[in-house]
Amino acid sequence: MTAEVLNGTRLAQRIRSQIRKQLKELTFTPGLAVIQVGNDPASSLYIKHKQRDCAKVHIHSELHHLPADTSQQTLIHKIEVLNVRQDIHAILVQIPLPKHIDAQESVDSIAPHKDVDGLTALNLGNIFINRESVTPCTPAGIIRLIESADVPIQGKHAVCVGRSHLVGKPIGIMLLNRNATVTYCHSKTQNLAAVIKKADILVAAVGKPEFITAEMVKKNATVIDVGINNVNGKLVGDVKFDEVKEIAGYITPVPGGVGPLTRAMLLENTLKLAINNNSTL
Ligand code: NAP
Repeated sequence: MTAEVLNGTRLAQRIRSQIRKQLKELTFTPGLAVIQVGNDPASSLYIKHKQRDCAKVHIHSELHHLPADTSQQTLIHKIEVLNVRQDIHAILVQIPLPKHIDAQESVDSIAPHKDVDGLTALNLGNIFINRESVTPCTPAGIIRLIESADVPIQGKHAVCVGRSHLVGKPIGIMLLNRNATVTYCHSKTQNLAAVIKKADILVAAVGKPEFITAEMVKKNATVIDVGINNVNGKLVGDVKFDEVKEIAGYITPVPGGVGPLTRAMLLENTLKLAINNNSTL
């Protein structure tokens, strides 16, 4: 039987319309500041989408675009200025940053209560101790997709292929917090295919086009494809969709799966931070 496709675009639309409703109740406008350093074309596109999403739900967004040779000190100073602005409730530093900049040190200079992507050491640590508040947008979106399909997590074997701070590590811990049994795989994992085959829930965050093939996947598994790879101008995931969908129980497409949820979670996190920050002013 062919897998049920988890439609991220539709779910994201529903989330956006809930956010629009909640925003109507507010007496102030939430503000998101995005900082981009350099001109990475993929980053520029993602930021354009984020700004368009904000405009659609009437969240104020502003881009602080710094040149590629910006020093770490200047970047941190920019963040510190935004940290104390009362009209800015959420700050996002677009990753990747140029190589001369220490990404974690920069992100860590975001005030934790404005850390909209949940990537400061403090907020990542909160996931570790099962005190989830604002969680990184992509893992948060993955959980939402899984929950939207009523796929049970408790007691299931989740395999995360990839261990980045952005996706792999936090989604593994968030699944563990929901009582999954979690295995992490990475570039040094031995017998990778055999480990992946044990997954009831498989999260592929590798960044290699069509890396996961049908013979690696357990029958009826839930397959979450995080990968975004540009192959000859076409977006392709980390999962060989056409063949894996014949084995899996649920599967996310690329595009139209995790990507739209990541964007919706950015709006949701911005709203959450705005409400939290405003009530503590
Ligand atoms: P990343 O930082 O490059 O991490 C990739 C991970 O894959 C690493 O942990 C790496 O292992 C592992 N890996 C690489 N080759 C492997 C192999 N042959 N076997 C097993 N594991 C291997 O990437 P990321 O930031 O997590 O992103 C992953 C993908 O998701 C990318 O395509 C990215 O564009 C996409 N993405 C999508 C969204 C979205 O909203 N849809 C959001 C974020 C990222 P090591 O740790 O050993 O190097």
